[in-house]
Amino acid sequence: MAVPFRRTSKTAKRLRRTHFKLSVSGLVTCPNCGATIKSHNVCPKCGYYNGKEVVKQVKKAEEEK
Ligand SMILES: [Zn+2]
Repeated sequence: MAVPFRRTSKTAKRLRRTHFKLSVSGLVTCPNCGATIKSHNVCPKCGYYNGKEVVKQVKKAEEEK
């Protein structure tokens, strides 16, 4: 098995790892309200899915009453 000729320096290791980053997948923008939501899910902000209101949202004014 090949063995590295030199030990990778801390700097070289850290510079290489600056390119490592986790990315969040499966996020889309709600076409109704524009919030960032999970794809293939009812929008938790407006309750819309596929252009229709699926879940009724309780308005803030009604919550205060
Ligand atoms: Zn929405």
